[in-house]
Amino acid sequence: MKYGRIKNFYNGKFVESLGVQTDEVVSPIDGSQLSSIPMSTAEELNAAVASAKAAFPAWSGTPIKERVQVFFRYRALLESHLDELAYLVSEENGKTWDEAKAEVEKSIELTEFACSMPQLVSGEILEVSKGVECRTDHFPLGVVASIVPFNFPLMVPNWTMPNALVLGNTMIMKPSELVPLSCQRMAELLKEAGLPDGVFNIINGGKEIVEGICAHPDIEAVSFVGSTKVAKLVYQQSTHNLKRCVALGGAKNHLFVLPDANPAMTASNVTASMSGCAGQRCMAASAMLAVGNVDPIIASICDEARKVMPGKNLGAVISKAAKDRIEDYISQAERDGAKILVDGRGAMVEGKEGGTYVGPTVIDYVTPDMSVATEEIFGPVISIMRTETVDEALKIENANPYGNAASVFTQSGGTARYIMEHASAGMIGVNIGVPVPREPFSFGGWNDSRFGANDITGKSSIEFWTKIKKTTTKWNPEAGVNWMS
Ligand code: NAD
Repeated sequence: MKYGRIKNFYNGKFVESLGVQTDEVVSPIDGSQLSSIPMSTAEELNAAVASAKAAFPAWSGTPIKERVQVFFRYRALLESHLDELAYLVSEENGKTWDEAKAEVEKSIELTEFACSMPQLVSGEILEVSKGVECRTDHFPLGVVASIVPFNFPLMVPNWTMPNALVLGNTMIMKPSELVPLSCQRMAELLKEAGLPDGVFNIINGGKEIVEGICAHPDIEAVSFVGSTKVAKLVYQQSTHNLKRCVALGGAKNHLFVLPDANPAMTASNVTASMSGCAGQRCMAASAMLAVGNVDPIIASICDEARKVMPGKNLGAVISKAAKDRIEDYISQAERDGAKILVDGRGAMVEGKEGGTYVGPTVIDYVTPDMSVATEEIFGPVISIMRTETVDEALKIENANPYGNAASVFTQSGGTARYIMEHASAGMIGVNIGVPVPREPFSFGGWNDSRFGANDITGKSSIEFWTKIKKTTTKWNPEAGVNWMS
């Protein structure tokens, strides 16, 4: 085991868990055991929450201009440890080196946005009657929680942590039990940056700890990122316990490809979207709606896909269970009558036989009722459905319960605009395969891809992580006005 057993982190210290149940942390690259992770107890969750609660008065009472200084230092540490962090992300998640580096770079960008928070939360003031002023101020909520998935071990924690903390909250983070190492290193870097003890805490575990977070009386708000099944549970449990909650779920992102699309750009964007991060991105292209005759573009996509090589420019999928699930979807599509144009089943990387790889897979002649058309596969697979018209394609996209992202590839502004208006998704791309809104824009889908009113990043996160106080003031008795006059 390369790293020691994972510890919890509270009161500014790493603490050995008393949990007896332990899972293995395995590298998807070669199947080697990296670490082991405890399933923490309810008492340990209480201790972590108590640590965050004790730290809240001093941290929330620190001016935001001072709080943000910690994050300028944290940002510099992310930069100076970029290679080390990218290595860790790649090791525990299976990403390629370039993808892991991009994840650290995105974490830096997210922190830069948090550093700009003093410019964004200055509140408003207006004279609403003669000599009477109304002003608004943002106040932190208290102890908040962030529950995160396996597919971005460093970036998703940085979606929530910097913004929530800069805004004056203290936090409990629950990493994915599959990839807990990057989060541990994040805690060390925050401490080195000067974050006071107890402001950021980590509790490891699975279902029981998540349920404990949703029920904990001292936690004010819960953010969740993961599958729709769990997002629904977390949203229901947290709001049932009268907590604020935003829960991001899974995705089935549709790409509309029109015959007038730029062939080379479309082929490279579609392929990068479906195979990047081994398809384990909630923004990955999963279904392609081929409107009219786009056969030459499909041929180019197949050519591009064949250049994507497991172990070289394609990372591993997270586990043996994930590999089996993805390959089962492909086999089912084949049995259902679809045509496998590029087949990634049975991929193996020489010298890394214990790794869990699936090659890029292009499936054509998929019909809207097949499981590869309707369900999230979360692997490097694209299912092509053919339609005669844009409206027919929109009908398929609209019928899907998810709604994270949709993209259109065309040279027609009118067609792009029509699809932007009518696709039932929260994030739209025009000639962009992975339409992630960059800061200060916020990230969040629609339908079963997000529960709760707010997005999770960007300006929308300010609403989520704070409550607004409205103060009405009058200091001029000589004006002789009552408030409503
Ligand atoms: P997951 O739902 O299995 O796990 C997410 C978190 O929930 C983990 O911390 C896990 O420990 C916990 N958890 C798992 N099962 C639970 C249960 N029954 N009760 C309570 N907690 C439970 O998701 P994952 O496999 O880690 O991540 C992949 C999923 O996340 C995909 O569906 C992907 O689309 C989604 N995702 C969505 C977004 C988005 O922005 N919408 C971003 C990243 C990932």
